[in-house]
Amino acid sequence: MIYQNIYTIIGRIIIMTQNSDISAQSPAAESAAKRVSELRERIRRANNEYYNQDNPTLTDAEYDTYFHELQMLEEQFPELQSSDSPTQRVGAETAPETKTWRHPRPMLSLANARSADELRAWLKRAAAILPQAHFQFVCELKIDGLAMALTYKRGNLTIAATRGDGAVGEDVTANALATHDVVRTLQGAAPDVVEIRGEIYMPISGFEQLNNTIAAQTAEKQNDSGAQTALRLFANPRNAAAGSLRQKDPEMTRSRNLHFFAYQIGYIEGGALPSTHAEALQALRNWGCIVNPNIVITDNFEDVIAFCEQWIQRRFELDYEIDGCVIKINDIAQQEELGVVARDPRWAIAFKFPPIQAAAKLLDIIISVGRTGSLNPQAVLEPVVIGGVTIKRASLYNAEDIIRKDLRPGDTVLIQRAGDVIPQIIKPILEKRPLKPDGSPLAEPFAMPEFCPSCGAKTVKDPDEAVTYCANTSLQCPAQRLELLRYFVSKDAMDIDGIGDEACAALLENGLVSTPSDLYALTAENLAALPGFKEKKIQNALKSIEKSKERPFAKSLLALGIRHVGAKAAELLAGAFGSIDALLAASSEEISAIPGIGPVIGASVCNWFTDPIQRDSIEKLRAAGVTLQTQQEDAPTGPLSGQTFLLTGKLTHCTRSQAENAIRKLGGSIAASVNKQLHHVIVGAEAGSKLEKAQKAKIPTHDETWLMELLIQNGIDIAAM
Ligand code: NAD
Repeated sequence: MIYQNIYTIIGRIIIMTQNSDISAQSPAAESAAKRVSELRERIRRANNEYYNQDNPTLTDAEYDTYFHELQMLEEQFPELQSSDSPTQRVGAETAPETKTWRHPRPMLSLANARSADELRAWLKRAAAILPQAHFQFVCELKIDGLAMALTYKRGNLTIAATRGDGAVGEDVTANALATHDVVRTLQGAAPDVVEIRGEIYMPISGFEQLNNTIAAQTAEKQNDSGAQTALRLFANPRNAAAGSLRQKDPEMTRSRNLHFFAYQIGYIEGGALPSTHAEALQALRNWGCIVNPNIVITDNFEDVIAFCEQWIQRRFELDYEIDGCVIKINDIAQQEELGVVARDPRWAIAFKFPPIQAAAKLLDIIISVGRTGSLNPQAVLEPVVIGGVTIKRASLYNAEDIIRKDLRPGDTVLIQRAGDVIPQIIKPILEKRPLKPDGSPLAEPFAMPEFCPSCGAKTVKDPDEAVTYCANTSLQCPAQRLELLRYFVSKDAMDIDGIGDEACAALLENGLVSTPSDLYALTAENLAALPGFKEKKIQNALKSIEKSKERPFAKSLLALGIRHVGAKAAELLAGAFGSIDALLAASSEEISAIPGIGPVIGASVCNWFTDPIQRDSIEKLRAAGVTLQTQQEDAPTGPLSGQTFLLTGKLTHCTRSQAENAIRKLGGSIAASVNKQLHHVIVGAEAGSKLEKAQKAKIPTHDETWLMELLIQNGIDIAAM
């Protein structure tokens, strides 16, 4: 028995004439004819770039605008309609050299809605055709990949084909089997023949990894040969999936991490017919296909609208791209009655999300210097609106990223805004790159400056790190000094809310402050010299400076702005050493040994403390009364309050961090090195130099059993620590 899918009712497709007779036209029709021909030409080129070369030069939003304009003109001037217009066709013809497959049932596209009103208009059109019908809707995600038809005979996959131009697709069977979710054999009882339709997609994480690999390989080739090698990054996961599926070698496809969601039965021969789309989805699941789990079935059209609106934001929770939602009428008999118009079924509609990508001109790449001396490149863009927000800047991470992507001022670049994340430049559109008369690029490749743009010191780059730094210390470079002061007063650090960004700049400019510690010497007269500082503001500023002296040690340590020491590291260091003096006395190895710290932070802290200017500013902070040691009230109180422990050697009953957590829970503190403030040293197996030092300093030492008994007596369940 043949499952009469809606796609077979192709007879209803509006037949257009190949009408190119535009003689005796009005001037308006004449100019419309010219525009229609330009638009068709541009859309056909875009289709080829997008569907066959996986390398679009238009954004989807630009493409959709051209497409919509063409549809409008064809509606307004029916004499210009033509069956070979892109508005009447699906996708693009497959490239001549490919192995093709003629679809027994055409694979169509979907009509679009961009608002709740357009969704309601779709429902109205369907209700006008079937006025007596009660509709139920299946709401699905519109996976941004490429459509695929999988034909199974007696449960075994025989053909996997792309959509192509809807009538003829590309046979990609071997490659489809090299994806993760395309099953070779259907589970359970399968019909004689079944065609399963769905979407091949690449997860976002896989796409980013692939683009990084391509960029790195291109840079490597360029280094080896010295010649310019064209960079060919994929614009989005959809193009990456299409390119990866069309590889000559299936092993290459296998390495690309492609997945498949099944969303429809194309047709069935010799099997039971599902009477609803929901039943068809269940059949797909029963056969072992992966169906996207985010589906809602409802009779209430307001639920349909809520589903679409909800996923505009929720899309960013997923590791695959969706470009909208697809709403389908559940009842297959109703689907068949509704039929098809041009290239779209009337029983389904795609609700398209607002675009998150746009193209814009990269006007410049500017470098700012951060508080730790890092040189941070930023893209200055010709303003462009994405998702209702005007984008003028984008961060560029680091020089390697810019060089790998080969971004040059003057380029037109593809920008993406995902959720609330800062916009990202995906790639330059090389076809639009300004060239010299000899055909070479007008702008040179990007290089990090050799000298700091703020203080002129040489810049340095550790080969193991991606970031380039100004070689001057934070207090010698004006840009770093300003950023450090801003950081010091910020909410996360000393929380001095009376001194804002402008005041920081003015304090440095007027020479009233040169290191953050100078803030504590400021007087009301000093502050009166700052723009906008009147009596009340001055008093507030002085009060918040005074109050900041009570900030816990972890915060004052963070406020110092030591490279690599963020909030978490500052807390670990404050907890382990207890005071700035203990930290100053510690070696790089002792600091690195703290769980969660490691050698990079260890070396950075030691290096920072060797700078006499920084040491001097610590003394100024101490003299001002800033908290530079852990206060008793910072730690939980308990039976071990006021007692400091050091653990050395290997423990056998629990891990080091379980023992430390237990001691802290009982109010004790943990030290990282032997010092006079220590009360107990716990000695595990193979203890080394710390045991010797503790014995020399006559600090009481205990074995692990002593500690375990102490913890058990105080009700600690060590396994739960
Ligand atoms: P479409 O992508 O708007 O919608 C139809 C497709 O949706 C189906 O073929 C199917 O592959 C897919 N789909 C995903 N999830 C689905 C689900 N759950 N149920 C059913 N179908 C689902 O239409 P189209 O004709 O494939 O492509 C047109 C769009 O492609 C344009 O609107 C544009 O965004 C993009 N495009 C861009 C360029 C460019 O140059 N940037 C060129 C051509 C096309």
